[in-house]
Amino acid sequence: MINSHKFLRLRVCNNHSLVSQSPSASIFLRSLRSASSSGEQQDLVVIGSGPGGYVAAIKAAQLGLKTTCVEKGKTLGGTCLNVGCIPSKSLLNNSHYYHMAHSGDLAKRGINMGGEVTLDLPKMMQQKSDAVTALTSGIDYLFKANGVTRTNGFGYIKSANEVQVTAEDGSVSTIPTKNILIATGSEVTPFPGIEIDEKKIISSTGALSLDEVPKEMILIGAGVIGLELGSVWTRLGSKVTALEFLGHVGGMGIDMEISKTFQRLLTKQGMKFKMNTKVTSAAIGSNGKVSVSAEDKKGKSETIECDTLLVCVGRRPYTEKLGLENIGVGLDNKGRVNVNSAFQTSVPNVYAIGDVITGPMLAHKAEDEGIVCVESIASGTKPHINYDAVPSVIYTHPEVAWVGKNEEDLKNLKIEYSVGKFPFSANSRAKCNDDTDGLVKVLGDKKTDRLLGCYIVGPGAGELINEVALAIEYGASCEDVARVCHAHPTMSEAVREAHLAAFCGKAINMA
Ligand code: FAD
Ligand code: NAD
Repeated sequence: MINSHKFLRLRVCNNHSLVSQSPSASIFLRSLRSASSSGEQQDLVVIGSGPGGYVAAIKAAQLGLKTTCVEKGKTLGGTCLNVGCIPSKSLLNNSHYYHMAHSGDLAKRGINMGGEVTLDLPKMMQQKSDAVTALTSGIDYLFKANGVTRTNGFGYIKSANEVQVTAEDGSVSTIPTKNILIATGSEVTPFPGIEIDEKKIISSTGALSLDEVPKEMILIGAGVIGLELGSVWTRLGSKVTALEFLGHVGGMGIDMEISKTFQRLLTKQGMKFKMNTKVTSAAIGSNGKVSVSAEDKKGKSETIECDTLLVCVGRRPYTEKLGLENIGVGLDNKGRVNVNSAFQTSVPNVYAIGDVITGPMLAHKAEDEGIVCVESIASGTKPHINYDAVPSVIYTHPEVAWVGKNEEDLKNLKIEYSVGKFPFSANSRAKCNDDTDGLVKVLGDKKTDRLLGCYIVGPGAGELINEVALAIEYGASCEDVARVCHAHPTMSEAVREAHLAAFCGKAINMA
């Protein structure tokens, strides 16, 4: 299928070539940049080195902009690398292996461990820290290789062309710059009246570094963080109960049918859920336990005790002491920096991307915004991101992943749609692996067959969804995906079959 969107992408790529450098020009620019220090005029100062900021800084330098990245933390990489995506995925992976060994799943497959399976939590935590260190120091290496100047300290926007940096030792310097990119990310949303001590009452950061397995853990919120970190501690032996204000798990954007399937599978794994339950307060009692008060929809209240309380009720944009008032840049009602479609604030040479602006708080969304934003600064092209093609993944087992519109969205938009489903229980690879929980659900436009959304609960869903994101980005129909040859035996054949069912009503390997 040929569509105008493809032509738009080609045009954007051609524009990029206008700003790419010849090898000799880039060596010349690099030598200039390596001589730069704070105080020297920059083309771009990026504040924040999370996935949005560090990727933007590298791309800017590759496009020939003299670039400095200011970071207040000791290591580069922001929330994602230090206390987010990376450490949580390490613990999810290794706690899954532990659970397979400990629960008898490996024995069932003929793999005997020859004794009791025990947990070495410090070692598991060490492996997590090693992954974080390798990846955060990898950014340092990439900055050097690409000629990005790293400046340690707290960035403050003094004027539209000056960023003041206060280093840890209190010394202050000012960097003059043509452009500023705000990539300051987000922080844990506090719960009014509940004090996080990161020991008994913890945020996601504390939940990534507990030094023993709590007997009983309560989660406030069954959103993405609650389900991922709740899964980790359930697998390691905690009795985990999630108290969730809404009637469904998985946070915003999830399809309701998929959410129900997901909650059923997590319940089977041992997690407990109290839905439509609003936590009102929590405190540590004289017995050392945390007592959590909550009320249901009818206002009936109850108090539950636990050893550890994980507060995971969302994240909020971080703009503290950034100096936005100096340049008159405003925030919306959720504290996010207001930007236009070119990521410009009300001051045209000051831009913002990632968690600090509107949209899903996801690392890859921040990265993509960073790339197109600096491409636009370097070349004057109009940035374009198709937010309908940004995938979401919950890295439990099975994983949950989706892209595009869900059934509820389509009903609200009054779009007539077709549905194609295929269960992993009918997929040959899932059968071989004895890992058959879940399904693929595809939503297509009833009239045109255009692929509108896909929701997967299943092993490796986070990898499978990227094929569908590609298809949505290129405006594919369900038939287009169904006609692509998929290797056998793979889980991705379930994705193909669900597209086939959405297109013509019937899959092949299911009656
Ligand atoms: P951040 O990563 O928050 O980085 C902002 C940086 O700016 C920080 O390093 C901060 O120190 C620095 N900074 C702030 N203000 C200043 C200042 N004034 N001066 C200097 N430096 C400053 N997303 C996914 O896509 N996949 C996942 O699997 C995933 N897992 C997650 C797990 C957890 C537990 C958490 C908490 C989050 C997870 N996320 C995940 C979300 C993801 O981490 C964020 O969406 C992403 O980090 C946002 O990137 P960012 O660059 O906008 O901001
Ligand atoms: P979330 O918005 O996903 O979930 C918070 C949940 O808390 C919601 O379901 C909400 O209804 C519930 N809640 C709020 N107040 C409550 C109360 N008083 N009582 C009971 N429940 C209450 O937020 P999160 O799980 O904290 O995650 C924060 C952000 O980090 C998300 O935006 C997510 O995108 C990002 N993140 C992404 C990943 C990933 O991509 N795999 C992993 C972790 C975090």
